[in-house]
Amino acid sequence: MKPPARLESLHGTWLGHDIPFSFDAKSRLWYALAGVSLETAPGTYAIELTGETVAGKSAGTKLSFSRKFAIARGKYPKIEVKLSVEGKFTEPNPEQQKQIEEGQQVKKDYLNRLTSQREWSGPFATPADAAISDVFGSQRIFNGKTSSPHLGLDFRVPSGTPVAAMNDGTVLLARPLYFEGNFVVLDHGQGLLTLYLHLSEFKVKEGEQVKRGQVVGLSGGTGRATGPHLHVAVRWQGNYLDPASLLRLRLP
Ligand SMILES: [Zn+2]
Repeated sequence: MKPPARLESLHGTWLGHDIPFSFDAKSRLWYALAGVSLETAPGTYAIELTGETVAGKSAGTKLSFSRKFAIARGKYPKIEVKLSVEGKFTEPNPEQQKQIEEGQQVKKDYLNRLTSQREWSGPFATPADAAISDVFGSQRIFNGKTSSPHLGLDFRVPSGTPVAAMNDGTVLLARPLYFEGNFVVLDHGQGLLTLYLHLSEFKVKEGEQVKRGQVVGLSGGTGRATGPHLHVAVRWQGNYLDPASLLRLRLP
């Protein structure tokens, strides 16, 4: 967006989120990434912006203004699912229940991280060169019962297919969890994470820095999966966003 004056810095708050902006010298525009959860009610929401002016007499002056964004209702498919998952996922025994709870704790501890530094730059790249087998937001009907919406994007890949980092970042998690199977999470900074599930093999370690396109693991069918496929998810400041939308964005 173009602010009313030349700025040194720009920062926004929107729907309870802190949104840091970056300046793109080529287009001379300020930009930031933000998203809404599937639960957000359609409507118009204002982003409150604060900037600091650059140079001249008024240097360092704080400038406040706002812009409005409309959020419309999305359309998501309903899919009848014939395949079933193993009983250990629908009726876990006490030992399995313990592993489930450990997994929930790991996700609680790691997936809400918000670092101030941005590590991603430029457009996001597809994690696998393959067909999409299930889109974000679809409601899957298992045995006549509607399950919670699908919060990721599925790629139809056989086991052993290289899975690429969608952008630059730091490996936040690379470990097996009960439902996710072998699970890689990349932290791209400013609360943006990409998640790669059901891998057969890890190609990165926690704490390692990765570049866009770098292989982070091989696809598989570990954890709660009806067969080998790649499930990727995008999390931004606690909300799951549509990975396909992120992949379509033209970012500087
Ligand atoms: Zn999936």
